Amino acid sequence: MKKDNFEAFYVKQIEEEVLRQQNLQKEKQKPIKIGTPKEIKTFLDEYVIGQEDAKKTLSVAVYNHYKRLNYNLGLGSASLEDDVELDKSNILLVGETGTGKTLLARTLARMLSVPFAIADATVLTEAGYVGEDVENVLVKLLQAADYDVEMAERGIVFIDEIDKIARKSDNPSITRDVSGEGVQQALLKLLEGATVNVPPKGGRKHPEQPLVSINTKNILFISGGAFDGIERHIASRLNTHTVGYRKKDDSEHIDMEHLIKYVNAQDVKKFGLIPEIVGRFPVISYLLPLDKKDLLRILTEPRNAIVKQYKKLFSLDEIELNMDSSVLEFVVDKAIEYRTGARGLRAIMEKIMRDFMFEMPSSNKKIVNLNLSYVKKLLSTDLGLFTK
Ligand code: ADP
Repeated sequence: MKKDNFEAFYVKQIEEEVLRQQNLQKEKQKPIKIGTPKEIKTFLDEYVIGQEDAKKTLSVAVYNHYKRLNYNLGLGSASLEDDVELDKSNILLVGETGTGKTLLARTLARMLSVPFAIADATVLTEAGYVGEDVENVLVKLLQAADYDVEMAERGIVFIDEIDKIARKSDNPSITRDVSGEGVQQALLKLLEGATVNVPPKGGRKHPEQPLVSINTKNILFISGGAFDGIERHIASRLNTHTVGYRKKDDSEHIDMEHLIKYVNAQDVKKFGLIPEIVGRFPVISYLLPLDKKDLLRILTEPRNAIVKQYKKLFSLDEIELNMDSSVLEFVVDKAIEYRTGARGLRAIMEKIMRDFMFEMPSSNKKIVNLNLSYVKKLLSTDLGLFTK
């Protein structure tokens, strides 16, 4: 390349980059859009069966998150005319494993126009211990934001299995346990809306990397956990109340089968989350265990339901797949029997479908009719399916 051309080439590149940055800045000044809470819930309904309370709570929270961002950041027509700063309401989701907490988070991520990251609390440790530093939660968000700090600061983080960092006893005077309370203290730093220094590449493997400052004030945190055994605390709290009031019919209103419906901050504290953490999650919602009816719906109804997926897979080879409801019921019964809940449905279906998926593409037949006796026989001989 001649010198003049060479220069022109780079000048053009620089101009393009400047323009790109300017456009990006303009984009960032626009208000961030999202549907109404009802529209958000309708979207969640397409993928998540049941769990009405959690879906409503999340829809409102996400809607408010965008509203607050537009307002606090003075985007679009929203501006800080008065001194009212809108605070965020982080959410805690409590419910058995496999009831849809992560699914809810992932489904939300599909519709959001802000960066979204999922982190697992079980791998977190206090700085200096083996495991991941709490800051790595933000590294994931930064990555999701394509390393744009301003964008990351508007994001949403889902922290899974937060119950696993609970203190083993709710007696704070007990010797500090590294795995539990220490991590909670570290996590608190993120939740408090402080500026946190983050190694952009994550981990401690690159000690030389410069740190990036991220302000967590506008980041929405959603946490989920099974909180195994929390019903005990709920029951004893409800019990004291009903006895205290001595109102005979109080207990009749309590749905004893689903005590989780009544979970509140006090119970979560009793379970072993420190009060400061609990205080940072002003909204608590619950997910109900899935019953047979729910599992049947999960097999067939969601937009990407397992049965729909197999039908689609076969249809791509112009093969029709039919299974009657007795087969579906049997699959659900097995999932309940093995206590694997919704998570086990796919494993069972995969087992049932494997031979068909192996044989059909090279066969002349164009229809698969799954019948109950075949499925029963197949599953009764398989013992290794659910050994963990
Ligand atoms: P959790 O995070 O509560 O432990 P997950 O969301 O990971 O559970 O659920 C595991 C899988 O089970 C999901 O990927 C989904 O396929 C299925 N599932 C669980 N709950 C539901 C639900 N309410 N509606 C539809 N599918 C569900």
